[in-house]
Amino acid sequence: MDLRTVWTKNIERFGPYPALIFEGNEYTNVDCDARSSQLAHALIELGVKPGDRVVVTMPNSPEVVVAFSGVLKAGAVVVPVLPLLQTQELHYIFKDCEPKVVLTAEMLWAKAKEAANGLPAPPMMFTIDDPHSPRSLRTRMEQAPASMPLAAVTENAPAALLYTSGTTGHPKGVVLTHRNLYANAEAAAEMAKRLPTEYDRVGLGVLPISHAFGFTMMNVALLLGDKIVLLPYFEPKKVLETIERHRVTHTAMVPAMFHALCYCPEADRYDTSSLVACVSGSASLPPSLAWQFQRKFNCLILEGYGLSEAAPIVTATDPTKPIKPGSVGLPLPGVQVAVVDEHGNRLPPNEVGELIVSGPNVFQGYYGKDEETRQALRDGWLYTGDMARIDEDGYVFIVDRKKDVIIRGGFNIYPRDIEELLMSHPDVLEAGVVGVPSPKMGEEVAAYVVVRRGSQVTEEELIEFCQKRVAKYKSPRFLKKVGYLPKNIIGKIDKKKLREWASEFIP
Ligand code: ATP
Repeated sequence: MDLRTVWTKNIERFGPYPALIFEGNEYTNVDCDARSSQLAHALIELGVKPGDRVVVTMPNSPEVVVAFSGVLKAGAVVVPVLPLLQTQELHYIFKDCEPKVVLTAEMLWAKAKEAANGLPAPPMMFTIDDPHSPRSLRTRMEQAPASMPLAAVTENAPAALLYTSGTTGHPKGVVLTHRNLYANAEAAAEMAKRLPTEYDRVGLGVLPISHAFGFTMMNVALLLGDKIVLLPYFEPKKVLETIERHRVTHTAMVPAMFHALCYCPEADRYDTSSLVACVSGSASLPPSLAWQFQRKFNCLILEGYGLSEAAPIVTATDPTKPIKPGSVGLPLPGVQVAVVDEHGNRLPPNEVGELIVSGPNVFQGYYGKDEETRQALRDGWLYTGDMARIDEDGYVFIVDRKKDVIIRGGFNIYPRDIEELLMSHPDVLEAGVVGVPSPKMGEEVAAYVVVRRGSQVTEEELIEFCQKRVAKYKSPRFLKKVGYLPKNIIGKIDKKKLREWASEFIP
């Protein structure tokens, strides 16, 4: 089985049910199956062949879910692209993957058109939200048959091209096969089934489904036959209201969203008692925040770790096993992990090194980037670029990104340790730590912190707070209070930007 047949299988397994709920409207699994087949027919009629890339860039909506399925059914490669990207970023992706077709929304039409300017092979472009628009693909779709024989592509054919967020350079297109996608979603669904099942699963899709994390959580929900309430964007009050209204049982979010819900002043006004579990991923979840959220909303947080190159989930909290705070859980069924030193030698339990991964979810390579692929894939293992340790029970603890490690006077300092230390101060809401070049020490530690409104804590006091709790060489040499931290579109601290900020400390 692969994701192309998921709707049909769900009709056989459960009969018709409201699979997607959006802005008060229900879309059954039967509708979604039919519409995705129609979209596949329309693409094939336009000349799309197996292996051709089709970009889908629009905010969460049933059309996006249908478009993903339709592109896969046509045997083409779906390229989900975050709708919030700027024109130049979009242009970069168009130039890199040379799409045959771009599917977008009316409100993004002008930007998408501009991004396609100057491309050697301009893509065909359509909108898929407003059926009355002259540029809508919907008229072609509506004339097409509602069932679709599967295009003859093997499970090892490319199915998706996911662009990394580019926090470490230009975004790279990660090539994932049908098998990669299915294996990962199936293994994650297996973990999800270990939660208590005496409730009807109602998921909330608030992560952008055009990003690796949201995309996969959607695939997992489809495999499980969940009812999914979709929101076009994250807004704390809207999220809480939706949980109450639809009796949402689970959702997936990034740490910045957990943070926003915890600090939403209206949170107590909503009945969120239906929530059973929330998945956190994409960036480290400070244990203090996890604890605070679980207590406030009386719901379990299951932390996962992954990267686009692993389709994307590598580890997750297994709800049937003890939860170890600070850990990202255990490898998904079928996935192997190890920690190695800089020569690729395996390290014993609890020693910190680079995390490597193998399994049916590991990607085929970066699109058009052979050298980067050789760096990332060695002897059948994916080198994640993340520093981690694995304890004697097999639990994985992410320490930090290899590229973010600060080397001061020959000693390694993991920014995440200092960020968590700063966030353990009662007045600190968020912290971001980076290295700044220093002629004397190689690098120095620079911290930016966001403090609670009304807090009188001084920068000197915060440095002192750190000095009392960690070796002096690890304490921030520079610390500045700021109103916000630079974040990327899905809410991860943008370390590239933070390093630019920190150049203010270079003498
Ligand atoms: P780029 O490679 O272009 O910088 P990116 O690495 O952000 O983009 P993604 O695949 O979106 O691309 O993110 C994967 C990275 O996110 C992982 O390598 C890891 O550093 C981080 N990450 C994901 N989940 C967690 C987690 N639970 N805890 C800590 N870090 C995480």
